[in-house]
Amino acid sequence: MCDVVVIGGGVIGLSIAFELSLHNVSVRILEQGQFGQEASWAGAGMLPPGNPAWAATPEARLRAASHVLWPTWASRLRELTGIDSGYVRCGGLTVHSSSAESEFSQEKARWIAEGIALESLSGISLRERFPALNPSIQEACFLPELGQVRNPRLIKALQAACVQRGVELFSGHPVMSIEHNGQRVHSVRTPAGEFTAGQFVIASGAWSGELARQVGMNLDIEPVRGQMVLLDAQPLPFSCVIEDGLRYMVPRPDGRILVGSTEERVGFDKRNTVDGVAGLLKLAQQLVPSLSQAKLERSWSGLRPHRPGGLPFIGPSGIYDNVFVAAGHFRAGLQLSPITATLMREMLLGQPVSLPLAR
Ligand SMILES: Cc1cc2nc3c(=O)[nH]c(=O)nc-3n(C[C@H](O)[C@H](O)[C@H](O)COP(=O)(O)OP(=O)(O)OC[C@H]3O[C@@H](n4cnc5c(N)ncnc54)[C@H](O)[C@@H]3O)c2cc1C
Repeated sequence: MCDVVVIGGGVIGLSIAFELSLHNVSVRILEQGQFGQEASWAGAGMLPPGNPAWAATPEARLRAASHVLWPTWASRLRELTGIDSGYVRCGGLTVHSSSAESEFSQEKARWIAEGIALESLSGISLRERFPALNPSIQEACFLPELGQVRNPRLIKALQAACVQRGVELFSGHPVMSIEHNGQRVHSVRTPAGEFTAGQFVIASGAWSGELARQVGMNLDIEPVRGQMVLLDAQPLPFSCVIEDGLRYMVPRPDGRILVGSTEERVGFDKRNTVDGVAGLLKLAQQLVPSLSQAKLERSWSGLRPHRPGGLPFIGPSGIYDNVFVAAGHFRAGLQLSPITATLMREMLLGQPVSLPLAR
């Protein structure tokens, strides 16, 4: 028996296990497929900035706390494993385009209200800084503190760090049922047998709803498909993230550009569609016309775990004393992974919780 069993080996489950292992907790992670190959692999890796001093909503407080944790989190993983997660503050440009008029003003006002560093750019100053941008875009704002992480590398680093710290990783181990006795869960059942532990964490992304139901919780988590397209655009025509409403382009240092993403409620269907891919390619050309000559490399999609209201559930199950949930991170699971791990460690170890719980 170990101290904690984590169900789900995405960025959230791996981060929680790693954080617990740093505090000498014995952890096993049960993953139904391969580690980190679902939403955590599919994501774009954008890490929006935050400001703990002015953050006024639960979402802003979580984002701000994670923003503060990221540099140490990334360097600790690199020192321990030698794997560079690609964490960098590359900056982000939010453009004022006709397709997202109102979003631009609202988003800019939100950043200003939060006291986030921001540069307003228009006309010639915008052209000079971003010559590849479509000249029809006349206004934008630049967030110098927006970061990115290369999520497939982050997953590799987290897996390696977990192994080094003695976490036991079980791939191909779907949890089918959660077995309880009175107020406590004593084990979880997989096709390979039962796993007992003192505490359990449900961190199963878009699949968490069914497991949570087994411990009497209704989390209303549903999968929201996000399609993504990868371009090879060497040499890169821009080096920061470009956002247009909910869509964006993320340049990687190797000359690739990720273009994302759609929001589709189609259940657990991970197909790419003609409509989805065509829309993303159109966006890329509209924002940076020279990308019409870029090589189209591949496309994929992932299932974001969505809860009504868009906030993750991070906390005790409420019904069973020793069951906790960290799920429903929707569009923000990569950015919120360090703070989620910190909060879960505090709760599991009975330490003072550093932020009000996100529920
Ligand atoms: C296209 C796209 C773009 C995105 N861009 C960003 C971004 O730029 N920035 C950002 O912060 N976030 C982004 N996200 C969101 C982010 O990827 C997710 O919020 C995050 O990956 C959720 O992590 P998770 O560990 O909860 O879920 P997952 O990565 O889905 O992991 C859950 C794991 O649990 C396993 N599992 C499920 N059921 C069981 C079971 N019964 N037994 C055992 N294992 C089980 C699954 O196999 C899976 O591996 C994006 C997502 C998508 C799809």
